[in-house]
Amino acid sequence: MRVGTCKAVSGKIEKGSLTVATFHEKGLKIPVLIARGEEPGKTIFISAGMHGDEINGIEVIRHFIEQISPEKLKGTIIFLPILNPWGFKQKSRFIPFDNKDLNRCFNKKGRSVSYKIARTLMKSVVSKCDFGIDLHDGRTNLLLPHTRIFKKDKCKYLKELSHAFGSEIILQREGERGMMAIESFNAYKTPVLTVEVGGALVLREEFISQVLDGLKNILIYSGLLNGILKLPVRQFFLDERIGYHAPTHGILHIEVELGEAVKKGQLIASIYNPIENQELKIKSKNPGVVFSLRRDAIINKGESILSILHFKLERRRREIIPLQAKMLINRTKPEEIITRPTIILNNLLSILGLSYKIVGESLKESLKMLDEYFKLAKHKH
Ligand SMILES: [Zn+2]
Repeated sequence: MRVGTCKAVSGKIEKGSLTVATFHEKGLKIPVLIARGEEPGKTIFISAGMHGDEINGIEVIRHFIEQISPEKLKGTIIFLPILNPWGFKQKSRFIPFDNKDLNRCFNKKGRSVSYKIARTLMKSVVSKCDFGIDLHDGRTNLLLPHTRIFKKDKCKYLKELSHAFGSEIILQREGERGMMAIESFNAYKTPVLTVEVGGALVLREEFISQVLDGLKNILIYSGLLNGILKLPVRQFFLDERIGYHAPTHGILHIEVELGEAVKKGQLIASIYNPIENQELKIKSKNPGVVFSLRRDAIINKGESILSILHFKLERRRREIIPLQAKMLINRTKPEEIITRPTIILNNLLSILGLSYKIVGESLKESLKMLDEYFKLAKHKH
């Protein structure tokens, strides 16, 4: 196995580079590292920095490489720590040679540099892998770390990976043509899981460490590493949210923090419009937990301020029900499963009172899948 100049060596992590395209007769190179175990297993890739201004994923890969011992691996991991080093140098999302978003250029015909880069990545990396993980970040918004799958995804294994990663939120969205995660499956039946680390031009150490745990879970689930999954008791399957948008332009004051629980009617933000000398207050429509937050304090009319994972409160029955999400409950047999508490729900219960019951639709198909894993794990350990 070889990617560019990087050749896999059993029990070692090797370094090299891959020429992904040429521009004015100059080769455009990205760094490649390959960790190969001493025993056979799946081949996967982990990539970051497709958008040059998304930095947390790059740090995740750096730490992950420090943490893994290749001699304990069963299989091979191809690391692509930065897919767009040219955008990175300019703090830009785009490939600067043609100003295209690389994540819309996969599986497309065209002579532009970005299409060529995408084609090389598909041929030299994606086609050789059983699956891949692509790390992204928020841009204008800070987000709680989560995995993303697309509504049109027909791949069952991708859904399993999204659970096994263990983020509390799995976001389902429409997706667009040309995205690596969509086109890899179309072209080679290679599932690619998108992971949002969550920062936006700022490093978030706590998110980086959550994502490192998630990657470890993925290696365990896919048989590349021995171990036990660590999953939250509950995970939420969230559809694309309609967040709170600015009713006017102005200076944004956000009154809540990422992951904070809010009550219905609580002040979450205010916008001061210095031209009209007006202040507008924005309140939470329901109880919930803050999922994303705008980074910049200057805001235009219609731009997103924040989004909340909302719950409905049934006071009489003392129940809380997720509104825009389906809920997966992982703790079927607590004695067999190593889990961790769901911080989102703990935060919510801490402001609502612990006497509330959580009501949600459990996803039977996924429960079955996790049950299978735990049966296997029990035999192995
Ligand atoms: Zn991105």
